[in-house]
Amino acid sequence: MLKRMSLISAYIALGCAATVLPVLISIYVANEDVARREQRDLRLYAEKAVMRTELVTYQGFAAIADLQAEHGAPCSPEYLERAAHVIFNYRYVRDAGAYGDGRYLCSPLFGDVRTQNLALPPPRWRSNDGYLLWFQQKNPLSDVREDIQIGRNGQYVSIDPQSYVDVMDPAGRPIATINTDVNSIVALSTGADPDEMLDAWKRAGRVDSGEWNYAVARSATRALGVVVKGRRTSLLKDWPGLLAMWVSMGVAMGGAFGWFAFKRISRQVSFQASLEWAISQRIIDVEYQPVVSLATNECVGVEALARWNLNGREISPNIFIALAEQHGLIQALTDLVLDKALHDLTDLLRSRPSFYVSINVSGEDLRTPRFLNLITARLAGTGLRPAQIRIEATERHFLNADVTRQTIAAFRSAGHPVYIDDFGTGYSSLAYLQTFRIDVLKIDKSFVDTIAQQAASSIVAPHIIDMAHELGVEIVAEGIERSEQVEYLARRGVQYGQGWLFAKAMRREELVAWLEARRASHAPAQPAVQ
Ligand code: C2E
Ligand code: MG
Ligand code: MG
Repeated sequence: MLKRMSLISAYIALGCAATVLPVLISIYVANEDVARREQRDLRLYAEKAVMRTELVTYQGFAAIADLQAEHGAPCSPEYLERAAHVIFNYRYVRDAGAYGDGRYLCSPLFGDVRTQNLALPPPRWRSNDGYLLWFQQKNPLSDVREDIQIGRNGQYVSIDPQSYVDVMDPAGRPIATINTDVNSIVALSTGADPDEMLDAWKRAGRVDSGEWNYAVARSATRALGVVVKGRRTSLLKDWPGLLAMWVSMGVAMGGAFGWFAFKRISRQVSFQASLEWAISQRIIDVEYQPVVSLATNECVGVEALARWNLNGREISPNIFIALAEQHGLIQALTDLVLDKALHDLTDLLRSRPSFYVSINVSGEDLRTPRFLNLITARLAGTGLRPAQIRIEATERHFLNADVTRQTIAAFRSAGHPVYIDDFGTGYSSLAYLQTFRIDVLKIDKSFVDTIAQQAASSIVAPHIIDMAHELGVEIVAEGIERSEQVEYLARRGVQYGQGWLFAKAMRREELVAWLEARRASHAPAQPAVQ
């Protein structure tokens, strides 16, 4: 019961796992893939932004160089005209002019302000090659406007910070341009949070956020860097909901598996239980198949064969015998067959003392003298001879040699001949057979089938026959269906045959009638009383 429950639980768990795991694994893999692609895409975006930053910076440098090429004195009309040209020609430059002593001196935007003392604070940063940089530099003419100013040798250009971060991007992902020497923000796209971006820059983009990815890139030539951020699309964002959905589907599938397992196991269990019940209620029937002397055509005995009719269906003995062996029911079955055979045939056996019935036994019956003792007890007072009850065991039942050897010897010394059944289908080598003392060998039907045919396996039958002769054991050929098999076997000295050519297994009444009819037609074939 416990085993059954754990088997069903295992099926349910299997059903759950088989449904949920592949889905969760594929979602996880897809999610990882999306994350990888997004990271790569964001890195490309950062590299593009760095190129943009460099472009704007170099344009600033070029504008200053252009301004310095003017030979007229700073703030002369020629100079201011040149500055106006620079503003016009360089897209990102919105003012250009001269400074000195911490003051703006002149530009097309301011005009000549040398006398006005327009203060210019010290630069925020100075490059090795002599460029000065002011960032977030308040324009003296405006409260809101902030510029980036690049200066050198008394000339400067003002640049709109937005042009540093003006990268075409449909998703509008935030960018911050960083001066990598002082780790300060130079320019920031609208809406971006400077503290967050600077923090991300300092962590080289490795920010632990479920919502955002960050990426950084550095300029190879200037002290410039960029940090960008992009929204993270997570397939697992709603993972509790997702998990709940798939787990419930898994449970449903597991339930289906469990139900299937339950049905299967119950069927198997009920099959086994039915057999147990059939044995205990003694509703297993026994039929008898005649064994015929090939020389005289006389019926010398019968083999008892168990029959089980379950709900109108004949179950093959090959199936229910194996089931009985598996579930410890075989001894009860063997006992039942013996009892029924004795019940059915005692009169017949008594009236024909050389007639016999052979009982098929299994490995369990050969492990102990239990079955032998039972036969002895049953025969006591019946007047039957021990030789009238014979034992058939297949080769595989001889396997447990040391134990069975003793039991077989005990059967024989008690006067019950022992038959080796289905010979040739098992493991016995001929040499192995020599170590067992048995009385009769039954050649399996599969070899008898090939007799008088050109099949390669037809050489096996004569071999077995010769060997049996050498060992001095009698032979029964099983499954004879054609008269040429009888001719061949008789010629080879095989003493007995069994098969549908003579008769199928029959109920007691049919057997008695069959024997009567045969006796009438073969008179005086009455076997001699021994
Ligand atoms: P087995 O002991 O070798 O029995 C002979 C089988 O061959 C029987 O099948 C019989 O009906 C079948 N047979 C006989 N002559 C012919 C023929 O000319 N043509 C064909 N096609 N078949 C023939 P069955 O009754 O189905 O039994 C199968 C096996 O089940 C038996 O093989 C035996 O090993 C086992 N068995 C049957 N009854 C018992 C029993 O009471 N106890 C045990 N332990 N095993 C049994
Ligand atoms: Mg048999
Ligand atoms: Mg057989």
